[in-house]
Amino acid sequence: MSMKDNDYLCPKCKGYLNVGGFILFATKTRRNHKGLLMLAPTVGEYKYKRHDKFNLEESEMVEFACPICQTDLTSSNRKDHAMIWMVGIEDNIEYDLYFSKIAGNQSTYLVAQDNIESFGDDALDFDDIYYE
Ligand SMILES: [Zn+2]
Repeated sequence: MSMKDNDYLCPKCKGYLNVGGFILFATKTRRNHKGLLMLAPTVGEYKYKRHDKFNLEESEMVEFACPICQTDLTSSNRKDHAMIWMVGIEDNIEYDLYFSKIAGNQSTYLVAQDNIESFGDDALDFDDIYYE
């Protein structure tokens, strides 16, 4: 599936989060630095753009909020993951997209009904993550 063309939505306000090929987030670090992050919508790849002065430290916990409604996107199941919606351009299916809030931690999960896929070098078995 080509992730790039899919739509990404805030689960609260249902606003589109993808702009110009990236997903936009309002973020805050543990050190209380705030900035916008643009994540490449290729799950498991973990590339992002940021302002030169907005630095993330390796393994730092980052809080992700919707840039439209400011809702904290932390997953209700896992505090160290954020969750947004993804709508597949090809299948028009709604997925819950989970990704790690820890900088440099490559774990992403796509969930649609009974279909679960995990991506990234740091991804664990999703059942361990989600249903503990
Ligand atoms: Zn929102």
